[in-house]
Amino acid sequence: MKPAAFDYQAPSTLDEAISLLTASDDAKVIAGGQSLMPMLNFRLLAPELLVDIAGIEELRGIEPGKSRGLSVGALTRHHEMETSELVKERFPVISEAMKFVAHLAIRNRGTIGGSISHADPAAELPMMAMLLDAQLTVAGPSGKRTVAAEDFFLGALTTDLEENEILARIDFPGLPKNTHFVFDEFAQRAGDFALCAVAMTLSMGGNFLTGGKKISEARIALMGVDETPIRIKEAEALLVGNKTIDEGLLEQVATIVRDTVQPNADLHASSEYRQYLAYTMSKRSLKKLWAQACGQDE
Ligand code: FAD
Repeated sequence: MKPAAFDYQAPSTLDEAISLLTASDDAKVIAGGQSLMPMLNFRLLAPELLVDIAGIEELRGIEPGKSRGLSVGALTRHHEMETSELVKERFPVISEAMKFVAHLAIRNRGTIGGSISHADPAAELPMMAMLLDAQLTVAGPSGKRTVAAEDFFLGALTTDLEENEILARIDFPGLPKNTHFVFDEFAQRAGDFALCAVAMTLSMGGNFLTGGKKISEARIALMGVDETPIRIKEAEALLVGNKTIDEGLLEQVATIVRDTVQPNADLHASSEYRQYLAYTMSKRSLKKLWAQACGQDE
């Protein structure tokens, strides 16, 4: 199908884009168009105006943030996130996750701002924002505000973005140098949306004066198994302070994950199957992560 007729504007500044959105009763932002165009073609949406933000220079770029962090413009494409040396050095988990987003043609057009604003429950970048405690800068008619990722995702395809607001920048705060990362995803075919994905970080702290090395921080995020990407804080807390991860702890963590997620059933998998994936994949990922932390990459 073809979309219903719409007007089109391509502003070159953020202020201009917000003015155009505010002046119309029924405008939609378009960035990479990889989610919006199919919805227009199916006539699930028929806005009177499309405001194309792709030419706004201030929304571009991947820059180093404070203390090993990253500051990423909303127009940064999936493929840029996948191939950036800075991203690979600071957050290899993002580069790894990007390989699972659709196919190269889509990764070449789709943007981080579009993915996070669209908030598909099985999308990789919203999950990365949750895992890495991203701070999102949103610009609107009354100026700019910052929202933590954990307050941004309100439900499937639903975010904290208000009318006429544009997601401008995504800041990933740095993690200690001795942080290890893991990402794993299960989909029916390469490039499909995930049935379940797991991402974790493990930071080690301490020395012989403090009684040896211990887990100082742990994060566990999943997607595809709830209305939004989800952090499993109870399991994270259980890991902190441990000097080792044995079979018993692996089992405890995986059980908490399985009992926390609330997957929907759909054409592709039942709710129980997705819970089973969450259990198995979190156990396997944590085992792999611990081997990495011990210098024994599998
Ligand atoms: P657009 O399509 O331009 O916009 C999407 C929505 O976000 C619209 O509502 C738009 O108004 C809004 N928007 C866009 N930018 C902003 C902004 N800066 N501020 C406020 N609102 C904004 N994604 C995955 O994560 N994983 C996958 O496995 C995956 N598989 C796919 C497979 C196919 C076949 C297709 C077509 C898409 C797939 N996608 C997948 C989605 C793809 O990654 C999209 O590119 C992405 O979700 C949206 O980015 P975009 O820049 O194209 O946004």
